[in-house]
Amino acid sequence: MKLAELTNYLESLAPLAYQEDYDNAGLIVGRSDKEVHQALISLDCTEAVVDEAIATGCQVIISHHPIVFKGLKKFNGRTYVERVVEKAIKHDLAIYAIHTNLDNVTGGVNSKICEMLGLKNTRILAPKNGLLKKLVTYVPVNDAGKVKNALFAAGAGDIGNYSECSFGTEGTGTFKGNDSTNPYVGEPCIRHHEPELRIETVYPANIESKILMALVLAHPYEEVAYDLYTLTNQHNQTGSGMIGEVDMALSEDDFLHLLKKNMQTGVIKHTELRGRDVKKVAVCGGAGGFLLKQAIAAGADVFVTADYKYHEFFDADGKIVIADIGHFESEQFTQQLLFEIIQKKFATFAVRLTTINTNPVKYFI
Ligand SMILES: [Zn+2]
Repeated sequence: MKLAELTNYLESLAPLAYQEDYDNAGLIVGRSDKEVHQALISLDCTEAVVDEAIATGCQVIISHHPIVFKGLKKFNGRTYVERVVEKAIKHDLAIYAIHTNLDNVTGGVNSKICEMLGLKNTRILAPKNGLLKKLVTYVPVNDAGKVKNALFAAGAGDIGNYSECSFGTEGTGTFKGNDSTNPYVGEPCIRHHEPELRIETVYPANIESKILMALVLAHPYEEVAYDLYTLTNQHNQTGSGMIGEVDMALSEDDFLHLLKKNMQTGVIKHTELRGRDVKKVAVCGGAGGFLLKQAIAAGADVFVTADYKYHEFFDADGKIVIADIGHFESEQFTQQLLFEIIQKKFATFAVRLTTINTNPVKYFI
């Protein structure tokens, strides 16, 4: 298939618009119309991973971390970043990154961590604002069903686990076309009164053009009347970190054992134990220290994340146990997640997991 088919699907689950400002997720090297038969999944796109992709006949590497974050000005092979890009281009190998956009969605990096820890009743820890918009449009009553169907099919009307959400009120619309119009109902140059349904529905702002195209195509009028509203609502399926509950409360010791085993981490750095059972657990793959306040406010007993610095550990302040399991360790099952996502959707497309442990941090035990 074309690479675009694969990346469009990934972006339907983790839209690029949901990545953080500093990020560089998306197609980094290669063309979207490139033919691909096999993808290699990795957490990091190192030189060794590029070599593995070439050796195993892959046409694209799907990595969690983008190999390029900042602008590259020279291509002299002096840094590993330049060498990776150079080698990928030489071998016609595409590199695609699905990073903070996958961190920020339900079903992404943090859902996978929750799954590995067996957490239940999970939700996004810090949902984002400003990602939702509202469409109001006015449709002749008899055409309302068709327009609603088109809007829902385009992605409008999703609220949590509910789809096809809308509200309708009947009223009367008026319009008068000039002499160059050919109105769907009524006559040009005469004011017409039409029973209409005012339809209201929500949609993610990043798919606005798709929603409007669906509206215009399905709506019978020559000129479609609609209003777009910016909402300040939280988008509960999108944001940082997650929180969930263990099935049965565990002692802190038992939880740390479970954490070490299930996340396959050799060592956990943690703050002082509080002598309390663990029921609620907040998680954030990678550097999640910025979520500590939300984790405490949500009543988490433990906050599982990575990249904590010495002074930041003090911020636990007896209110929570911070457990730093390592950046690679916290995100390593993202590889498995991507593998499952692609295999489920494209059953006949070959996808392989890297055999290389790209963790740059080694432990001397
Ligand atoms: Zn990371």
